[in-house]
Amino acid sequence: MSKRSDQAKRSVPITHLLGSFGFRVRDSDRKQWIGCHLHGSGQDSKPSAAVYPDTNSWYCWGCGKARNTIQTVMECKGIGFGEAIRWLEQTYQLAVIDDGFEHQAPRAVTLDFNPTETSEQIAHRVDSLLASASELIPAERRAKLWFGLDVIQGRLHDGGLTEETAKGEMRKIYVRFFHDLSNTAGDVE
Ligand SMILES: [Zn+2]
Repeated sequence: MSKRSDQAKRSVPITHLLGSFGFRVRDSDRKQWIGCHLHGSGQDSKPSAAVYPDTNSWYCWGCGKARNTIQTVMECKGIGFGEAIRWLEQTYQLAVIDDGFEHQAPRAVTLDFNPTETSEQIAHRVDSLLASASELIPAERRAKLWFGLDVIQGRLHDGGLTEETAKGEMRKIYVRFFHDLSNTAGDVE
């Protein structure tokens, strides 16, 4: 993934990309302030964000985050990491780099589970994976997986699920996480 993501981060000028998503950006290679429509009501009356052409990124104080080209596409289009890279490659006709990423079909994801692991341990593992994947999986997908985990834990505590069933359900969330990571499946339901 890294060669393709590096190319996608470097080859598309951030000012051009932001302009294409309706941000009012000047074509300049100097730092500039812009309004950001990714936070609040989407109507940013004051310029909350700074664009840094030298690092090909921008930072919004309203959102409290920095974004490169890939993150910008992910959020403006509501798509995943791999899809954003493909979109940049196609839209800006970047060089085709075969790093094998396309061949990682979701079904090829095989995960070994330790049968002695308790539901609590699985929940903890999924929870920390989700927490560490903020750059890789869109927030709404992570929130959905987290919510699923919560529901399972709640039902386990209420006695609505046995430990074994809860473990099976949590492992499904774990598998979905990797599906989202390889990002070829979109919504795996
Ligand atoms: Zn913002």
